[in-house]
Amino acid sequence: MSGKKIIIAIDGYSSCGKSTIAKQLAARLGYNYIDSGAMYRAITLFFLRNRINFENAEDVANALNDIEISFRYNEEAQASDIMLNDEDVSIPIRDMLVNENVSQVAAIKQVRAFAVAQQQAIGKGKGIVMDGRDIGSVVFPEAELKIFMTADPAVRVMRRFKEMYVTNPHITIDEVRHNLELRDYIDSTREESPLHKAKDAIVLDNSSMTREEQLDKVMHWIAERTEKAPATA
Ligand code: C5P
Repeated sequence: MSGKKIIIAIDGYSSCGKSTIAKQLAARLGYNYIDSGAMYRAITLFFLRNRINFENAEDVANALNDIEISFRYNEEAQASDIMLNDEDVSIPIRDMLVNENVSQVAAIKQVRAFAVAQQQAIGKGKGIVMDGRDIGSVVFPEAELKIFMTADPAVRVMRRFKEMYVTNPHITIDEVRHNLELRDYIDSTREESPLHKAKDAIVLDNSSMTREEQLDKVMHWIAERTEKAPATA
């Protein structure tokens, strides 16, 4: 695909398949994929390990001063590992304890300012696919393509259950359902940057789409936004 490099913002509820399509797009286009949720998860992991009181603004500010987050490309996995102060935390950030606390941490104003500043710096060079909850609305309001993903809640629960079962065979479908419902509720009702569809985002409901159908559809939207534009150096 020719043309200019753009920013692709993908937002939506938990377990809609945002990261699946984001990774496919990044591989197809040679773009950088950034999982913004992983950043909130890494911050949450740090807070939990260091017993930071989320409700104390001073403790939160001090803790953020001790956190450095970066992404390191992993050739074998064809995805980026997330580094928290030089430790690869790609696996522990998916723990149930992090799932249970991440939405409370992500609702804190200072935490969002910290993460958003890094996300915007990463996006400066364009040629980026970023997924999350506020990417099209707050992080990159100027993104050339904004997608708001949704899927049937029952489909989302089963997808997340299968994913989590691999590392935690004791997990139940009810636990997964409860956690998804709770996170969606907190994420869409919080005061700071709540999850909502940006005015100019396109809705993609993938409840009954295959990965290939979904990719074709999005590649078509990208072509509409890049092929007519002049190429950049
Ligand atoms: O995308 P993922 O489900 O891993 O995100 C974990 C949590 O991080 C979300 O439930 C949400 O609370 C928070 N998040 C956010 N803004 C983003 C990405 C994630 O608030 N841009």
